[in-house]
Amino acid sequence: MNVRINKEACIACGVCADIAPEVFTMGEDAAEVVLEDVPPEHEEAVRDAAESCPTEAIVFSE
Ligand code: SF4
Repeated sequence: MNVRINKEACIACGVCADIAPEVFTMGEDAAEVVLEDVPPEHEEAVRDAAESCPTEAIVFSE
């Protein structure tokens, strides 16, 4: 799985970093991806974060 943040859409709410702290961290104005090539053990958390993101700013491909 590959993941990125649409920084135009991100409102820096912090939800993704709470759900998947191994993959997302909070930058100044938006979330940042610290693990672009997501290992299998974190894929479920990325899906949860994407579903929970209020602005659908988390984009991933499998
Ligand atoms: S959950 Fe979505 S809006 Fe909130 S910080 Fe993460 S990417 Fe940004």
